This record gives sequence, C-alpha cells and structure tokens, in this order.
Amino acid sequence: MTETAAETATETTTCDISVCFPVDGEYYISDVFGNRTNPVTGKGEFHKGIDIAVVENTPVYAAFDGIVENCGLSESYGNYIKIKGEKYTCLYGHLNKVLLNKGESVKRGEKAALSGSTGQSTGPHLHFELYEGDQLIDPSPVIENICSQK
Ligand SMILES: [Zn+2]
Repeated sequence: MTETAAETATETTTCDISVCFPVDGEYYISDVFGNRTNPVTGKGEFHKGIDIAVVENTPVYAAFDGIVENCGLSESYGNYIKIKGEKYTCLYGHLNKVLLNKGESVKRGEKAALSGSTGQSTGPHLHFELYEGDQLIDPSPVIENICSQK
C-alpha cells in the first residue's frame, strides 16, 4: 500500500496558520474594518482592523502560531503586540498588559495579552489588525473559529 496524499500532508504540517478569534466569553464587535469617523478626533479615516468590545483584562489569545515581531507603547494603539506567523501578521491594540516579549515564539491560543483601553480609545476594547504578507486585510472573513485556550 502506498501512502495517501492526506497522510503525507499531515506529517509535513508543523505550523498552524489558520486564524482564530482572539477572545472568548462575552464580546461584541464595536467597529468594523474600513472607512469611518474616528470616535476621538471626529475626522474621517480608514479603520485598519476590527474593534472587539470586551471588559478590561480579558485574556487575548494568539490567533495563530508565530513569533512576537514587536510590542510596546504607541500614541494611537496604546500598548500593542504584533505577532508574525507563516502567512499572516496580526496586531492587537489598546491593551492593558502585554504578556510576551519581542522575539518570543507563541502558539495559537496562547495567552498573549490582557485587553484594556490604552492609547486613542473611547472605552475598553481590543483592536485586531491583520496582514497577509505586507497587505492589510479585513480580518472578519478569514477568522475560522474561537481560540481554545492553551
Ligand atoms: Zn480599532
């Protein structure tokens, strides 16, 4: 008997690149990707991600396997963390606390941060931004399921 293609594929897959939703529990989507009026400045702008309204200190999970490309404090994003995977890169903003360090590797579903309302924010929420390669994309259509905690 020869090996099936499916078996071969399973053996060579070592990295989970599918995107999962970064919080579980209670949330609602408070803003979608695209053009909007900035709630702080009142000016028109392009909203580069989705806003997930959650109470402060909600655990935020890595959406896929990757490494921490960057983290720090920005005027607009507040405390943020950027995770780079094989296919996608994601950025979480307005965090209360980042739980990983730059250069650290992270697994899908691993706790990466605690949500907050830092930076340019009108209330507690998670800003979730997604890039495919260098291209900014709308995360909503590629999110496959809720991250199960690891
Ligand atoms: Zn946002």
